Amino acid sequence: MSEPDADTLDPTSLRTPIVAVLGHVDHGKTSLLDKIRGSAVIEGEAGAITQHIGATAVPLDIISTIAGDLVDPDDFDLPGLLFIDTPGHHSFTTLRSRGGALADIAILVVDVNDGFQPQTLEALDILKRSETPFIVAANKIDTVPGWNPNEDSPINATYDAQSDRVTGRLDESLYTIIGNLSDEGFSADLYWRVQNFQRNVGVVPVSAMTGEGVPDLLAVMMGLSQRYMKAEMEIDVQGPGVGTVLEVKEEKGFGTTIDTVLYDGTIRADDQVVIGGMNDPIVTEVRALLQPRPLAEIRTESRFEKVEEVSAAAGIKVAAPDLADAMAGAPVRVVRNRELEEVVHEVEAELADIAVDTEEQG
Ligand code: GDP
Repeated sequence: MSEPDADTLDPTSLRTPIVAVLGHVDHGKTSLLDKIRGSAVIEGEAGAITQHIGATAVPLDIISTIAGDLVDPDDFDLPGLLFIDTPGHHSFTTLRSRGGALADIAILVVDVNDGFQPQTLEALDILKRSETPFIVAANKIDTVPGWNPNEDSPINATYDAQSDRVTGRLDESLYTIIGNLSDEGFSADLYWRVQNFQRNVGVVPVSAMTGEGVPDLLAVMMGLSQRYMKAEMEIDVQGPGVGTVLEVKEEKGFGTTIDTVLYDGTIRADDQVVIGGMNDPIVTEVRALLQPRPLAEIRTESRFEKVEEVSAAAGIKVAAPDLADAMAGAPVRVVRNRELEEVVHEVEAELADIAVDTEEQG
């Protein structure tokens, strides 16, 4: 077989949508992320699950294993979902991409018993302003009095296994949430009744404790992304990488590093990069790209392993000189074959946008 001609290769590819989790304190954001991560690890024991820096990638084949009949992998060409590990609206509002929110899609977690709370309203406001599509996870269904849990079950199966009294109570709580969403200007319904997720918000009953409804949650996120966001997921994989700083951290042996979410292109271990700094953009060279080392290999060695390149969407730690002034939320851009000056200008413009938004938010 002859090598394909480089000129005829399609350089565009579909990246993983980036997912953020929002909601009121104690409504179960962390537990839900842990549950999804845990399920993915179990299903992916063969090695398909990748722990990124600051994010967890759940590939399509794992989603389809967790979701069973709800997800047929042949219906999708997006590669999976990338969950940002830090939940909450602080990270959501500081993490931006050039177009707005860094997250392409969000899960708003609402405790079914506790209902709407101040931070639920704040989160809705943020989602509205950033025009981020989202679904509502009505969490803790296992705490409805009389609930009979069915670990990791899709919603319809576990719902059918409950008594009428129990489903009556759950329905009441769910309709209260749907009513609250409507009061805030969102037309919402139980997700299986939603035809158009662009117009209506889907509500998914779940339990982060028992895993009930998690198959549905993953299926809805995947479906929504595939149906409405495919065009935005088309990226030039080989192009110079573009990302956002999640966190600036000291790491033993590496000095100051930046945990970065890459949402376009590729970053390589020998790239020159421009990063938003407290004063001016920082121009520097990558010293190492680091990923978490698989648990089994951690002994006395570093927790990280070096990689040569990473493509979007991904979470990666970048070690480089001169990072002390880098800021969470700031842009990261690879220069590679572009004009350095042009890239610096782009980073400056993005930093100016962030400053304006921060002022507006008061
Ligand atoms: P966060 O502040 O939104 O991240 O909330 P956490 O994930 O820390 O959860 C707050 C508390 O609620 C913890 O004690 C969790 O164990 C509990 N919790 C979260 N989800 C569920 C659930 O689905 N069912 C039950 N019974 N408890 C839950």
